[in-house]
Amino acid sequence: MTIERVVVVGGGLAGVSAARELRDRGYDGAVTLIDKDAHPYDRPPLSKDFLLGKIGEDELGLAKPTWYDDASIDLRTGLTAVALRSATGAVELSDGSSVHADAVILALGADARPLGDTQAPHIHVLRTLADARALRDNLVSGARLAIVGGGLIGAEVASSARALGVEVELIEPFDPPLASAVGVDLAHSLHRMHVESGIRVHKSGVREIRSAGGDVIVELTDGTTVTADDVLVGIGSVPVTEMASDAGLEVDGGIVVDSAARTSNPAVFAAGDSARTRLPDGALLRRKEHWEAAKFGGHAAAAAVLGQPQPSPSADWFWSDRHGVHVEGVGSMTAEGTTVLRPYRDDDCGRIQMAFNVRGDTLLGAAAIDGGLAVRAARRLIDKGTAVTAEDLADPTFDLRRLRRS
Ligand SMILES: Cc1cc2nc3c(=O)[nH]c(=O)nc-3n(C[C@H](O)[C@H](O)[C@H](O)COP(=O)(O)OP(=O)(O)OC[C@H]3O[C@@H](n4cnc5c(N)ncnc54)[C@H](O)[C@@H]3O)c2cc1C
Repeated sequence: MTIERVVVVGGGLAGVSAARELRDRGYDGAVTLIDKDAHPYDRPPLSKDFLLGKIGEDELGLAKPTWYDDASIDLRTGLTAVALRSATGAVELSDGSSVHADAVILALGADARPLGDTQAPHIHVLRTLADARALRDNLVSGARLAIVGGGLIGAEVASSARALGVEVELIEPFDPPLASAVGVDLAHSLHRMHVESGIRVHKSGVREIRSAGGDVIVELTDGTTVTADDVLVGIGSVPVTEMASDAGLEVDGGIVVDSAARTSNPAVFAAGDSARTRLPDGALLRRKEHWEAAKFGGHAAAAAVLGQPQPSPSADWFWSDRHGVHVEGVGSMTAEGTTVLRPYRDDDCGRIQMAFNVRGDTLLGAAAIDGGLAVRAARRLIDKGTAVTAEDLADPTFDLRRLRRS
């Protein structure tokens, strides 16, 4: 069947990447990109430089404003797609109009997982630019911020808020959080940085969050009460799947896709934080909620729509920034294997800079603090299945790129 129009629902990274990839692969049919927000923007800066006031809204765009016209992308913002009629190929929009599509790419992202009344003015989540604006306006020196959740977003906001002179209390039941992403040892180092930068850390769950007078009260399960001017709830995300399930697509903790972004409907594809991959053996992977995975998913969906070869997959990779350090992780730190630690070079205290997860001579995962080049080298080793030794990995003077060449 000739694909005359592709409709991409969701103008986040996955959706914009899909639209761009359609054009890069030579598709010259119609492409409509729909987003309920005012313009397509990038999310990682929302917890970092945007919150810190280092960059403005005009620097968040996923593409130059002129690119959409230049690439003949029919960008429709401020409109919510409300239904997908699989039988007719129509995507119905919140203004009552509908767009016909021969192929639909769902790139709907995720919503922040709520706790308490996140509609209340001083109880925040952080997923959208509007969320970031509301939070940033209140992060003034001396303000009190309680953060529920010490994962990636909670930790980044804690760091940004502290840098702005905010009094931060971080509530997290696991010690250390993030162990599944970077391994236990690096997770401990990262979690300690909160205390070192003056953040009060509570190892506890949360019983209740409520507003009282001008304050927000967080009741912890350990009996402590935290009183703050604002609370950020950073406890993960929920994939946006309602439209997909209403349209009869398979949904199971995400819109289920195969490794080529195909859903259970041959004319519908899904990518990014809203999608979840099922392997050929039937195993469902964890939803990938990282920037690069969303971009790759968009590319994969575009390739699948056009029936072209898929982009080459690579081990999952993510980054995070906090307390002046840059963290990167690649592959799996949770797959069954042995941990190998690498200390910083020339560090008398033997502090750990990098952790590896190894099974036999196979590298499964790696993570580092301020070690981006080594993580990227590790990624090549994982992708190529290059044999490694624990001695080389543990040696801070050993350049992993040497193995890449061997
Ligand atoms: C604050 C923050 C910081 C982050 N930092 C990092 C980081 O440092 N490193 C990293 O690797 N990853 C980071 N991430 C994760 C990364 O940004 C996401 O994985 C990525 O944005 C996912 O892209 P997406 O396109 O799938 O979803 P989104 O970016 O959520 O885009 C989905 C879009 O779909 C639109 N939409 C949804 N439903 C509809 C509808 N019915 N009609 C029309 N439009 C709709 C939404 O408005 C949204 O614009 C961060 C995320 C956040 C929120």
